[in-house]
Amino acid sequence: MKTAIYPGSFDPVTYGHIDIIERAAKLFSKLIVVVSINPVKPSTFTTEERMDFLRRSLKFRRNIEIDCNSGLFIDYFKKRDADVIVKGLRAMSDFEYEFQMALINKDMHHTAETIFLSANAASMFLSSSAVKQIAMFGGDISAFVPDCIAGDIIERLKCR
Ligand code: ADP
Repeated sequence: MKTAIYPGSFDPVTYGHIDIIERAAKLFSKLIVVVSINPVKPSTFTTEERMDFLRRSLKFRRNIEIDCNSGLFIDYFKKRDADVIVKGLRAMSDFEYEFQMALINKDMHHTAETIFLSANAASMFLSSSAVKQIAMFGGDISAFVPDCIAGDIIERLKCR
């Protein structure tokens, strides 16, 4: 019975994140998807909006919990008595930062193992920032985020 935590900004959630969530949920008995509240990296969408987009995007949530965290991640990890940190890896550009975070977390809490799932080919170049830029100019984001949240994202971001 292993609990995994998948942390991120999810600002907003994309099909890339959803793919990682669905695959990780099959590997662990429980998956906690945590929206990080980071004062150094202000988000476009509020914490509640980001959590709401996640809830609406995930059809099957039998063993998936959605939560948020404003403190040090490793403290949250310990508090939830979790076993594994899940991260998604796109191109090489993600690797250096994620590898550094994995080592730092392990240094702070020796049993904290990070597991990397590679992005699928279709999501390799997909990012929340790209989705936001397209939405801002009224572009079609239906290939990148679920239809049930696409309208709200465009409405919030479109240039008036
Ligand atoms: P971003 O870098 O787009 O702001 P997040 O902070 O929300 O993304 O990322 C949370 C986690 O999800 C990170 O491990 C990141 O590498 C991963 N991730 C982000 N986008 C994708 C994607 N398209 N495919 C796979 N993993 C992704």
